[in-house]
Amino acid sequence: MANRSIEALTNLLTELPGFGPRQARRVTQYLLSKSPRYREELAGLIVEIAANAKQCPKCFRYDDLSKEGFCRICSDSSRDISLLMVVEKDVDIEGVESSGAYRGLYFVLGGLMPMTERKTSRTIRKTELMSRIGKNAVAEIIFALSTTPEGDYTARELMREIREKMPALRTTLLGRGLSIGAEIEYADSETLRNALKNRG
Ligand SMILES: [Zn+2]
Repeated sequence: MANRSIEALTNLLTELPGFGPRQARRVTQYLLSKSPRYREELAGLIVEIAANAKQCPKCFRYDDLSKEGFCRICSDSSRDISLLMVVEKDVDIEGVESSGAYRGLYFVLGGLMPMTERKTSRTIRKTELMSRIGKNAVAEIIFALSTTPEGDYTARELMREIREKMPALRTTLLGRGLSIGAEIEYADSETLRNALKNRG
């Protein structure tokens, strides 16, 4: 029988994305095998990110915020403010940024829309997105969601709603250079560049 802290840590780890009880136990065992210094550094950094990385109120990614209270991308005056790319999560931004093909701004949706009633606990920032695109100088909203059934469904639903409420705005989807089931997070730079060029 495992001791109480081992059990408690394993339970917490099962909440991580992609983690089940088996993966959680494996990580707990791994951490036990590491040096005390490693564990202390890891624990310290977890506390530190909570204190330092703040969520940008404009795009909702986690980053260091400027004096004005926005992340480094939102406060960069060289970015094209007429373009807004909607992504599912923070890491998708990193992928697109490293491709160097995009100079607009972002919006992190925080998830995808559930296709079934069973999954209603998962939510997205739809209200925040609508209010973000309703002001400022946004002219085009580019949907860069995973090409999974849920990703396609989410993009289609949001595009429909935007066209109804704000018909002057252009809504586009990344081109089909991305294969079916592709996640933006794992797409390579060349694919992203082509998908952006072929958006429509
Ligand atoms: Zn931001």
